[in-house]
Amino acid sequence: MALINIAWIGRLTGPKGEIAWRIITEVAPHFPQLHFTIVGGPVTERFQQALGSNVTLTGFVDDVNKVFAENDLVIGAGRVPVEAMRFGLPVIAVGESCYIGPVDGSTIAVAKASNFGDCDQLQPWQSQQLKDDLSALVAGERILPTAEYGAYVDDYRIDNVYPKVMNVYRQAMIMSYLKRFKEIPILMYHRVLREKPERSKYNIYVTVAELEWQIENLKQRGFELITFKDIAAGVRAKKPVILSFDDGYEDNYQNLLPLLQKHQVKAVIYALGDRSIRNNYWDMGEGEAEASLMSDEQLLACHRSGLVEIGAHGLTHSRLSQLDAEELHREVKQSKIVLEELLEDEVVSFAYPYGDYGVRETEQVRQAGYLFGVATITGPVNLANDLMRVRRITMFPDTIPAAFKKKTSGWYLRYCKLRGKDF
Ligand SMILES: [Zn+2]
Repeated sequence: MALINIAWIGRLTGPKGEIAWRIITEVAPHFPQLHFTIVGGPVTERFQQALGSNVTLTGFVDDVNKVFAENDLVIGAGRVPVEAMRFGLPVIAVGESCYIGPVDGSTIAVAKASNFGDCDQLQPWQSQQLKDDLSALVAGERILPTAEYGAYVDDYRIDNVYPKVMNVYRQAMIMSYLKRFKEIPILMYHRVLREKPERSKYNIYVTVAELEWQIENLKQRGFELITFKDIAAGVRAKKPVILSFDDGYEDNYQNLLPLLQKHQVKAVIYALGDRSIRNNYWDMGEGEAEASLMSDEQLLACHRSGLVEIGAHGLTHSRLSQLDAEELHREVKQSKIVLEELLEDEVVSFAYPYGDYGVRETEQVRQAGYLFGVATITGPVNLANDLMRVRRITMFPDTIPAAFKKKTSGWYLRYCKLRGKDF
């Protein structure tokens, strides 16, 4: 498509007005074959007197879509490129801070990061850059991938933006609560068994009797057993503790849920999103006994008890750091979607399988819309420092009362750090 009608959209005051001024006085005269429409106001005499024959000033307009329909290319910054790209128009991004240029696969990332030129470090640009880019586009030497523009700006759709804005707000509320605590004990368990098993390579169990003693002990000491979901919902416990159980074992339904109901306390269970996985296949080859995972019905029963937060533990219990970007995205995002559909409720926390994560993984968890990324024995001692790297305290079988009290003392992590000990 021939490029003939070029629209610039913005205010005519301040730094934006200076961009318009340069287009009118330095760029437009160079392209007598093109027509430039300067959309925005207020229109002053200074601008009117500077107009060449191939420039029109419209003043403020109500119907920006009409501008898009009447033009072949749009120059602008901020919201303007996003809207024009959604319309499928070629875009050159230039804003108050910097010159991005024609938007394509090579510039879209920096364009988005700078709000299409409006907020970044101030970098002076030359009108010649715009002239060169415009010449290349007009001559057809450079073609912009307008068919892909819709996908480029998909994350600006209101149904995508709204949850992210809400999460920033919710995280701020959560932080302000968590900042009161130097250390919140967040305990990590796995299986809950009636009897001690004959063998357990990793000792990832507690017995019902042990766990019941621990729950009673916490209650006696004035702890409130809450969940991440409670914190997200605004519950402001004075002395919180969180009991979390990884992998979603069937024994959690059989043995943990009745305990929670008996004592009316809460816990978090991290389940896999791939609901076809029925056992701990990832540990079995390592010499651990086979253990069944909860069915959908059992998971739902836990959720509906009102005492269990179901969090996501990935789809397939994979080591996230070893996955490519697409697989990682699937593990993190899809496990949220599947569990939310099953539970008909929001899933707010994600536990990294094996506690294996890096910056790429924490960012993915945040992007997927989780409020908490839960690790194992890494992450800051103070929970409020990083909600995407929540540190937990590992619980083993046969924990003697003194050790349990120490682990839930509220100074255990700092004590370990001081002694250079593992948590
Ligand atoms: Zn696990």
